[in-house]
Amino acid sequence: CGIVGVLGNHEVAPILVEALKRLEYRGYDSAGIATVNNGTLDRRRAVGKLVNLSDLLVHEPLAGKSGIGHTRWATHGAPSVTNAHPHMAGPVAVVHNGIIENFRELRAELAEAGFQFVTETDTETVALLTQMYMNAGAGPVEAAYQTLDRLQGAFALAFLFQGENDLIVAARKGSPLAIGHGHGEMFVGSDAIALAPLTDRITYLEEGDRAVVTRNSLEIHDANGALANRAIKTIQIDA
Ligand code: GLU
Repeated sequence: CGIVGVLGNHEVAPILVEALKRLEYRGYDSAGIATVNNGTLDRRRAVGKLVNLSDLLVHEPLAGKSGIGHTRWATHGAPSVTNAHPHMAGPVAVVHNGIIENFRELRAELAEAGFQFVTETDTETVALLTQMYMNAGAGPVEAAYQTLDRLQGAFALAFLFQGENDLIVAARKGSPLAIGHGHGEMFVGSDAIALAPLTDRITYLEEGDRAVVTRNSLEIHDANGALANRAIKTIQIDA
C-alpha cells in the first residue's frame, strides 16, 4: 500500500499512476487517484491491479495538474470501489495508509452531527471530520490540522482540497512519508523510490510531522506544532 501526491506543471493522472506502480512491491488490493482541475475535485478508483485504474482513466480521463493517489491494503471494509481511496467528503479528498484506531468513536460523533457514511473504512472519518471543520469555518489547512489532532493510530495521510490547485496537506505518524522537491513542482510519496523519476531531492517527514505543501514551498510542523526545519537530502535511487 502506498500514497503519492503531485503538485505539478503537467497533467498529473499518468504521473500519479506511474508513481503508484513504483510502490506495487508493497502489495495492494485496489487503487485510486483524485485531482483538482480548475478548482474542481474529482476521483477515479478501481479494484485490483493498477492496470485496471489505467484502463478506467482511458475511458474516463481525469484532468488536472494537482493530485493524490493511493494503493490500498484493506484493513477496515472489503476491497471494493466504494471502499477504495481517495475518500471524498464535500470539499476534501483524503488518502490514508494505516489504521485510525479511534474511528468508532469518531464515527459516533460524526453520526451525531448528522453526517452519513458511504464506506466501511476507518479513513472516511478523516474526510468527514475535515468537512465538518470546514463547514464550521476553518480553512483547509486549519481543518486538516484540527482533524489530525483527533486521530489515534498509525497513519500516513494526504489531503487535497476543492478550489485549491496549489495545496496538499500531508502527515506522518507511524508510517513513513517523503516530500520531493522539483523545480516549481512538489511531490509526496510513501518512499523516495516512488518519486525517483521525478526528483532526487527529498525531505523525510519525522514522526508526528505535518506538512503544508505547495509548488514553491514546504512548511513542516513537528508533533508539538512548532515550525520544524527538515533537511533536503539528495538521494541516489535508480529511476
Ligand atoms: N485502513 C485503511 C483502509 O482500510 C487504509 C488501508 C491502507 O493502509 O491501505 O481503507
